[in-house]
Amino acid sequence: MQNTNFETYLFPNGTIDACYLNVTLNVPCKQESVPPIGVDIRKPEDAQAAINFARRKNLRLVVKNTGHDYLGRSAGRGGFLLWTHHLKDKAYNATFVPQGAPSTQTYEAVTFGAGVQWQEAYDYVDEQGRFIIGGLAQGGSVGAAGGWVMGGGHSAFSPSLGLGVDNVLEFTVVLANGKLVTTNAYQHPDLFWALRGGGGGTYGIVLSATYQTHPNFALTTPTIQVNFTSPEIAQSVVTELFRLHPDLSDAGWGAYTWVFPEAMMAIFVAPNVTVDEANKRFEPLVSHAMNATGGAVIYTAPAFSNFTAWWKESFQGGPPQVGGNVEISSRLLPREMAKERPEEVARIALSLGVATNSVAGGAVSRVDPESTGLNPSWRKAIAQVYIAEIWEEGANSTTILASRERLKQGTDLLDKLTKDSGSYLNEGSLYERDFKKSYFGSHYPKLKKIKDKYDPSSLFVVASGVGSDEWDAELRCRK
Ligand SMILES: Cc1cc2nc3c(=O)[nH]c(=O)nc-3n(C[C@H](O)[C@H](O)[C@H](O)COP(=O)(O)OP(=O)(O)OC[C@H]3O[C@@H](n4cnc5c(N)ncnc54)[C@H](O)[C@@H]3O)c2cc1C
Repeated sequence: MQNTNFETYLFPNGTIDACYLNVTLNVPCKQESVPPIGVDIRKPEDAQAAINFARRKNLRLVVKNTGHDYLGRSAGRGGFLLWTHHLKDKAYNATFVPQGAPSTQTYEAVTFGAGVQWQEAYDYVDEQGRFIIGGLAQGGSVGAAGGWVMGGGHSAFSPSLGLGVDNVLEFTVVLANGKLVTTNAYQHPDLFWALRGGGGGTYGIVLSATYQTHPNFALTTPTIQVNFTSPEIAQSVVTELFRLHPDLSDAGWGAYTWVFPEAMMAIFVAPNVTVDEANKRFEPLVSHAMNATGGAVIYTAPAFSNFTAWWKESFQGGPPQVGGNVEISSRLLPREMAKERPEEVARIALSLGVATNSVAGGAVSRVDPESTGLNPSWRKAIAQVYIAEIWEEGANSTTILASRERLKQGTDLLDKLTKDSGSYLNEGSLYERDFKKSYFGSHYPKLKKIKDKYDPSSLFVVASGVGSDEWDAELRCRK
């Protein structure tokens, strides 16, 4: 797992079943929440046989790709594992036609096996001289055709080119009855709708995903760092940041931002923007920060000839972010909140210390909210704001539970950013008061209906997933 806390098993009495990476802790290695047995899927028949076996034997099924999940959905104590990591096929088709579509409907598309990771995907798409919307993480280790896209799939380029769910054209899936189907806008369109936002591990095993690609582009990445010497200065600068945010999103700018009482940093990106254009665009924010702080601002705007050059410099070199003990909680920041009450957004952000993924608005908002199963809150949002709790490996249950309590309290404060508590399923917490509302919004009833159609015996169940409330906390027995 990426975050090993989702493998560690905490008993109600506070005892911990673990297998720590740090062997000097001298804790005997236990099975914890790692499924003890499973299938390493290499071809469709493996997935079909494993699913049929699990269904007949009534097993608790766990689908795992990279194990990056922040809800622990790719682990499961005592489960039967289906591992997709080795499905590494990649194919480029300059005239791809979705099955069942008119022959004139062509795309320059790539098809990835479910185990392909973003680093491999970017390398491959770059070889074709194209660009693809994908996850942006150190080392590129997130899966390109698994939980990322089924939960939404954001990128800092989403304000220009949409989310993963807006770019995927087709999936091949093994269903709970063992059948292999191809689903897209023309074949099993209800399933295609649900797979785009209804979440991983819920509707079947995806074996491949086909995405449209885009022409590569030059880009400029303005970066601003500001040190705050007083709460008033921090409030002033961060308010200006959120006040400008909706217009930046509409113009296609994405960003990753960290806001704390002592300092903030933001890295903006947008395709096809020159340094001059970027400087002009960010002049109001930089001037405001300069005036407010008396000059405690570092602003740079490096330019790159294409996405790959930026990706290599920013993400490729570093180690993958593995082995942490991390839980997060997030809210989708509505455009109207930033537009009408930037002071309040800034006050909440500063009081919590938040990271902001500015990955919505712009192209994301221009998509019909009903066209995919994704929580419609995404279409009104401009960003995803999140908080994190981190603890040391080997921490006792008191420490872990205290972290979780802080996360819950922080979520209550984050909630003031939204009216509908909209959150990102792939970067959320297990402690939502109403997970259906937070992760799926008004799409939940339709997502559940489609789940009941394609998975009537509920073979595929994950924490906080569609239909999961019909199961006990361990997802082993129906309530
Ligand atoms: C370091 C890091 C960086 C991240 N960066 C981004 C980012 O830039 N953008 C973004 O949107 N998100 C990002 N995320 C969140 C990411 O989208 C989620 O962690 C997502 O769940 C990862 O999917 P996965 O398939 O790689 O992982 P897994 O944990 O293996 O799977 C996640 C879920 O999908 C299911 N699943 C996986 N594969 C399949 C399949 N083939 N068929 C059916 N179900 C499947 C699993 O059962 C599980 O429920 C990041 C996470 C981390 C840890």
